[in-house]
Amino acid sequence: MAQNKKYIRLAADLQTDSIVDGPGLRAVLWTQGCNHHCKGCQNPQTWSFEGGGLVPLTEVFKAIDELEYHTGLTLSGGDPLYQVHECLEVIKYARKKGLNIWVYTGFTWEELMEMAKEDKVYIDFLKLIDVLVDGKFILEQRDLSLLFRGSRNQRLIDVPKTLESNNIVLLDESKYNEENMFKKEPMFI
Ligand code: SF4
Repeated sequence: MAQNKKYIRLAADLQTDSIVDGPGLRAVLWTQGCNHHCKGCQNPQTWSFEGGGLVPLTEVFKAIDELEYHTGLTLSGGDPLYQVHECLEVIKYARKKGLNIWVYTGFTWEELMEMAKEDKVYIDFLKLIDVLVDGKFILEQRDLSLLFRGSRNQRLIDVPKTLESNNIVLLDESKYNEENMFKKEPMFI
């Protein structure tokens, strides 16, 4: 592997045109690798840390450059937080392009705060995202009526407000009507 190239392990190419992984028209980065092993996980093929493929970050940047009409980028998987350094590079790039950022993780906010005591990269990462959907998928708490999440324990966390107040602030779900879902401007900055 060339030393000056950085790679990220992905389960698939950058997906475009998603309307189910956050508001508006979104691209989705499916990261490979997850140790949470939730019962009922829809993507168990993304658990292996040797599966998927290593992709140069420059290729991901190129795919982001090619997006048209997209309002945001969602990081999912797998669990993106297992590749926090690589994902940080991706979201820095996507933000420069005006995309809002949603991230799905099996870690809870509280667990991430503990991890941040050991490595501040987790805070650097959170500072650049708009919404964190946190916590494992719990089959017994599955609820198909929930907005953008699968089980009742998972939270749509408004990250900027949460970091500012040092208290978990949930996203105001009432703002999601069709009119503002497809605005080009980032919605949570
Ligand atoms: S965190 Fe997500 S990808 Fe990982 S096992 Fe749970 S549902 Fe599957």
